Amino acid sequence: MNGFSKTKAMELPRFVVVGHDAIKQVGDVCVNLKLGRRALLVADSTTMKIAGESVLQQLRERKIRVVEYLIPDANWEAVSESKDRIGKEDLDFALGVGGGRSIDVAKLAAFQAGVPFISVPTAASHDGVVSSGASIEKGGVKQTFAAQTPIAVIMDTGIIAESPFRLLASGCGDIISNLTAVKDWALGRNLRNEYYSTYAAALSELAARLLIENAATIKPRLEESAWFVAKALVSSGVAMSIAGSSRPASGSEHKFSHTLDRTAKKPALHGEQCGVGTIMMMYLHGGNWEEVRNALLTIGAPTTARALGVTDEEIIEGLIHAHEIHPERYTILGDAGLNHEAAERLARITKVI
Ligand SMILES: [Zn+2]
Repeated sequence: MNGFSKTKAMELPRFVVVGHDAIKQVGDVCVNLKLGRRALLVADSTTMKIAGESVLQQLRERKIRVVEYLIPDANWEAVSESKDRIGKEDLDFALGVGGGRSIDVAKLAAFQAGVPFISVPTAASHDGVVSSGASIEKGGVKQTFAAQTPIAVIMDTGIIAESPFRLLASGCGDIISNLTAVKDWALGRNLRNEYYSTYAAALSELAARLLIENAATIKPRLEESAWFVAKALVSSGVAMSIAGSSRPASGSEHKFSHTLDRTAKKPALHGEQCGVGTIMMMYLHGGNWEEVRNALLTIGAPTTARALGVTDEEIIEGLIHAHEIHPERYTILGDAGLNHEAAERLARITKVI
C-alpha cells in the first residue's frame, strides 16, 4: 500500500469550434454528437437575427425539430420557462445562442432538465460562454448557479468581431482577472489547505499572460482579435473544468464585481468590473498592478470609476463589502475585508478614483 489517494473527475466540452464561419458547423456538430431530433433554441430577439436563424435553418435541414424561446432577460422565470419547454415537448438538448444571457439561461435550464447543452456565443464578453456556471437574476439579485459544462462550444470569430467592441474589451478584463484569481487560490491553499490544481492555475494564468503580452493587437472589428480573445476564454474555461470550480478564474476581483452588481446604481459589464478589480487586488497582492492597468488601457477597457460609470463611493463600498461574497472562498481580502480608509487609499493609489 502506498499513501496515494487522489481521484479526479473533469467535465470538459467534447467539441470546441473557434473561427471564421464557425456558425455554419452547428448543424454538423449536433448530428455528430448524436444529441437527438428535438432541440430547444434559446436566444433573444437580436441574437436570433445575428446567429439564431442560421442555426435554426441548419437544424431543420438535418431534420431536427426546434422549439424557439426568445428570452426577455437572464432571470429565474426564463430558466423555469425553458426547463418546462424541454420537459413538455420532450426535447433532447438545448442550444444557447447569444451573449451571456441566452447562454446562461439555456445552460441552467438544460442542467435542471438533465439534457446536454451547446453554447453558441455571439460575443466574447466573459468566460461564462465556456464554463459550467450560470449567472441568473433571482429575487432581484444576480447569482451564480452551478450548472454544466457545454458539450460543445461554437465561437464564430466573424460574428464576435461584429459585436460591440465594449463586449470584447470586457471579455479581456475577465481573462486578465485570472491573474489575481490564481494568486487568491494559492492563498486559499496556503492558509486554508484548500484543494489547488497546479495545472489549472498555470493554464488560467497563461491565458491572462498571453493576453497582456498581446494587448496592443486587440482592436475593434478585427477578426484576429476576436480569435485571440475567444481562444483565451476557452483556455480559462478548460482551466475551470480541470479545477472543477471557477476558482482559477474568479477571486477577490470577482467578489468586488459581484458586490458592485448588488450595490451600484448602474453596474458596468461583468468583465469591465473584474478588470478594474484586478488592478486593485493586484496592488493588495503586492504584484504588478500597473502592468494590469496598462494592458486594460491599451485594449480600451475601463480602468476608473468614471469609465465604469459608477461613483467613487460605490467603488469604496464595493471594496469594503467584497469579502462578504462567498466567504468560504478565501482571498487576499481575508475574513474582515477593508475598512473605509484602506479602501479609499487603495482606489486612489491605483488611480481608480
Ligand atoms: Zn468572470
